[in-house]
Amino acid sequence: MKILVYAEQQDGHLKKSAVEAVSFARQSFESRGDLNITVLLGGQVDTQAAAELGLYGANSVWMPAESILNSFEVHLHALAIQQALAESGAEVLVMAHTYCGKSLVPRLSVAWDAVLAAGVNSPPECASDGSWKVYRTVYSNKGIASYSVSGVRRILSFLPNALKPVECSSPCTVFPWNTTVNSAAAKTRSLELQKVQGKIPLTEAERVISGGRGLKGPEHWHLIEDLAEVCDAATACSKPVSDMHWRSHDEHVGQTGITIKPDLYMAVGISGAIQHLAGVSSSKTIVAINTDREAPFFKVADYGVVGDAFEVLPQLTQAIRRLRKG
Ligand SMILES: Cc1cc2nc3c(=O)[nH]c(=O)nc-3n(C[C@H](O)[C@H](O)[C@H](O)COP(=O)(O)OP(=O)(O)OC[C@H]3O[C@@H](n4cnc5c(N)ncnc54)[C@H](O)[C@@H]3O)c2cc1C
Repeated sequence: MKILVYAEQQDGHLKKSAVEAVSFARQSFESRGDLNITVLLGGQVDTQAAAELGLYGANSVWMPAESILNSFEVHLHALAIQQALAESGAEVLVMAHTYCGKSLVPRLSVAWDAVLAAGVNSPPECASDGSWKVYRTVYSNKGIASYSVSGVRRILSFLPNALKPVECSSPCTVFPWNTTVNSAAAKTRSLELQKVQGKIPLTEAERVISGGRGLKGPEHWHLIEDLAEVCDAATACSKPVSDMHWRSHDEHVGQTGITIKPDLYMAVGISGAIQHLAGVSSSKTIVAINTDREAPFFKVADYGVVGDAFEVLPQLTQAIRRLRKG
């Protein structure tokens, strides 16, 4: 079974989702003795880092020889992936359901005439007839739907953090790869890039500390940031908080914001409205801190603290700081 994995990079560094994608492919189809995983890098990265994808199950890695793919342009990347699919002879394409992945998979599904299983949250269950059973959340995370997937060509995109990468083999060979993609095929042009500096990217974070309107104002956000710092966590917020410009929109999670699936999501002063939960309820462990014991967040939380954020947060931060020092 030949699999092509598309591995994202940014500024010459592999994204966390690149390692996850290789490991997801390896763990999903390990039982196939004839498994061969080729990785197409979405741009040029350090050769040593590329070779380490072998530790997670890649058999070979293709590094674009030209710089044309280094910044993401969906039409160019879709064409490059199609070329790599044809050259590798892959029957399955695996990638992360990230911002880039979401825009690529529908295009590729049509262009490559493949069945698409998009945004699945666990490895497919492979049946003896060759079909897969895949699971994904539906109706704003209120339900889980299962689908049977069959067909000669298949595309599988998985939610970031769906699976812990597992080391399994040894470094592999990195080959230079020449793409026939021409920059004239680009249909969009990036005019300006505003980067969030010095923060853990929300979509890649394993721990997230999030604040809502219960924090009363932006001047109190140091309480969230202090806790995030001692937990090595990213910070997030509810929609009203970003609408009121207490925090920037790149922190807004929920139905109309970013969907995340961290190991730990701590919601402070957030009521737990359905539109907020839509973006966070797949988190592995949820902690809610709220003065209102009837707050809806407590219905989905694994741990709850009924208390005032202004009293609880400093104590919690101090206790975790002490624990980590010890
Ligand atoms: C179409 C649509 C899409 C939407 N999309 C999103 C979305 O993507 N993301 C999102 O977040 N919302 C979204 N919303 C808004 C959503 O419905 C809620 O209004 C919003 O999530 C509420 O934000 P909040 O919990 O911060 O504020 P509130 O609802 O005002 O809740 C504040 C909470 O803080 C608690 N609190 C108060 N003081 C303290 C204290 N001192 N210590 C601890 N707790 C305290 C209160 O008990 C309360 O539970 C959407 C709404 C619509 C209609």
